Amino acid sequence: MSDKICPLGLEQLEALTERFPTPFHLYDEKGIRENARRLKAAFAWNPGFKEYFAVKAAPNPFLMKILKQEGFGSDCSSYGELLLSEKVGVVGEDIIFTSNDTPAYEYAKAKELGAIINLDDISHIQYLEDEVGLPELVCCRYNPGPLKAGNAIIGHPEEAKYGFTREQLFEGYRILRDKGIRRFGLHTMVASNELDVTYFLETAQMLFDLVGELSSKLGIGFEFVNLGGGIGIPYKPEDQAVDLSALGEGVRKLYEERIIGKGIHPLDIRMECGRMVTGPFGYLVSRVLHKKKTYKQYVGLDACMANLMRPGMYGAYHHITVAGKEDAPCELVCDVTGSLCENNDKFAIDRAIPPVDVGDLVVIHDAGAHGHSMGFNYNAKLRSAELLLREDGEVVQIRRAETVEDYFATLDFEGLQSFEA
Ligand SMILES: *Cc1c(COP(=O)(O)O)cnc(C)c1O
Repeated sequence: MSDKICPLGLEQLEALTERFPTPFHLYDEKGIRENARRLKAAFAWNPGFKEYFAVKAAPNPFLMKILKQEGFGSDCSSYGELLLSEKVGVVGEDIIFTSNDTPAYEYAKAKELGAIINLDDISHIQYLEDEVGLPELVCCRYNPGPLKAGNAIIGHPEEAKYGFTREQLFEGYRILRDKGIRRFGLHTMVASNELDVTYFLETAQMLFDLVGELSSKLGIGFEFVNLGGGIGIPYKPEDQAVDLSALGEGVRKLYEERIIGKGIHPLDIRMECGRMVTGPFGYLVSRVLHKKKTYKQYVGLDACMANLMRPGMYGAYHHITVAGKEDAPCELVCDVTGSLCENNDKFAIDRAIPPVDVGDLVVIHDAGAHGHSMGFNYNAKLRSAELLLREDGEVVQIRRAETVEDYFATLDFEGLQSFEA
């Protein structure tokens, strides 16, 4: 009924659950690689093009290693993400460190790794210089405020905590220039889960024009513009994926007009997408534990919001299929729930799915970004395993499931013995 299909069918999934009990996240390596190649191909006209994978979307070193092999760098925003990137061997200017409200030790680690540091605020120029010293190359994050309409997920730019205003940007690059910095980049990130190509073309145009103005006004040169992440994915069956070649082609036209035309090329195009890189290629596989009928019908899974919080947190749509019943009519309207003691622990509300039986395997689609990574331990729930379907059909575990020992690891039960309550 839907073209959202899990690469493993009922029998293969059942066999897998004998090795790895549900729930688990399953990633499709072939899908991830092919998609990565499509993105690169769309920008092949720009020799310096680079995508920095937004690590927060799926911070698993096996996935990061696959993406490294495809030529992607890392977009990190914290100390832990920098360490992960280092462990995968993505270092130096293959990292862009886009943080906000940043502590000095994070800047120090970014500088030690030779990462591109992307400043979130004009006051961070002095902070960075005082705390760790300025690097050779500096990037600043632009927040266009009311000059650019936001989109539904990230909100209006003027309400967002990120980035420099336009005036601060001119002032910031001037200060950096006067401090002797000679290598510059410009960044923005104004949309999330955006499916409209036009939105990204407007962003590119805005940055290209700004690079032109900054260059001529301040007499500085830019090495790159980073268009940010935010390419959406078709979560709903009726959504259309972003046409990457149309995006690449549209940016190329603008580049010819506004960069080559002004004699300020070469300029590298950079992006830092997370969601579109792994999102559609991750599946949360879970089993039906209970069915319940009260004022509504409920289907209770053995996964919960701790495994995928997007539906509970933002009311986000994630498509749900039932293994072996992919073509069955969707005649059961129900809430699909987890077991947290929170009524928003629901993967779907009033969703029509095929009539299910207890024990059926349910696949929640598009869970490959901001899925496992947003996991948490509320209600003493444990994060699930992550599995990778290799291109040869083999399935390997790339992160084990948490155990109750992991949950207790930060507690001191010996101290409890002698603790007088
Ligand atoms: C989250 C984030 C990204 C990735 O966003 P997606 O919507 O997953 O593409 C990129 N850059 C920054 C600074 C982010 O915070």
